[in-house]
Amino acid sequence: MIGDVAPLGLANPFVFRYVYREELERRDKLLEIRSMALQVHQFPCRSDNYGFLAHDPDAGVTACIDTPDAGATNAGLKEKGWRLTHILNTHHHGDHTGANLELKERWGCTIVGAANDAERIPGIEVKVSDGDLYEFGSLQAKVFEVPGHTMGHIAYYFESECIAFVGDTLFALGCGRLFEGTPEMMWTSLQKLMALPDETVVYCGHEYTQANAQFALSVEPGNESLVARSKEIDDLRAQGLPTVPTTIGLERATNPFVRPMSENLQSTIGLNGADLVAVFAETRNRKDNF
Ligand code: ZN
Ligand code: FE
Repeated sequence: MIGDVAPLGLANPFVFRYVYREELERRDKLLEIRSMALQVHQFPCRSDNYGFLAHDPDAGVTACIDTPDAGATNAGLKEKGWRLTHILNTHHHGDHTGANLELKERWGCTIVGAANDAERIPGIEVKVSDGDLYEFGSLQAKVFEVPGHTMGHIAYYFESECIAFVGDTLFALGCGRLFEGTPEMMWTSLQKLMALPDETVVYCGHEYTQANAQFALSVEPGNESLVARSKEIDDLRAQGLPTVPTTIGLERATNPFVRPMSENLQSTIGLNGADLVAVFAETRNRKDNF
């Protein structure tokens, strides 16, 4: 079927390019259709963070996903004419929870975060765990525990809208640094996210994509989809445009951190036929020193 992501290992560069374009078009189409039940307003803040406001117009509720910057969040709310009712935290880092208390004081909003990391989430009231369905307005957010970057990292998946907020676990062409978890833990977390449908729109916490692309090309130079995507990323950034959101399908085709099974990646880093966790660990290690 047209638009399906090519199976890994497919060697024809023309097929790779074709699949890449299909995925990109599919993402843009999906973004248009989906701006209905859950409207997402994305804004850059701090040096390279993204803030997200997610608004359910039927129920009149609005969440910010993480709180990198109170001023930028308030400006976004004003621009959209929305009132902040919820904060959905992905993890405790300061660039994700730093404005929790200030926003709570201003809006009286409900703060939601990981039960197993509650002591590090300022102002947390609703504690959620893996598999929980959190009722947000007329919608439900499924909670995934995705430890690795931090031990208490979670992602929010709006299944009916095919939207996932993944914090610093999965990035466009990258993944979070392993500050607290092991490579095995992070690989398990990434696999959880990669089990979502290809068309899932993925909002991640940072604009790191251009630097990630340089690294990705260094470890999987034979991936023609990656080469094509990298050019697209350079064009977007040259125009000052965001590369976020991405999709699960785009990442599956181009992100080396979810492609340890790639023969090209394995041979580039000298781990032909190695265990997938070992390939992931070495890829992460090389990125840390890139
Ligand atoms: Zn972080
Ligand atoms: Fe961060």
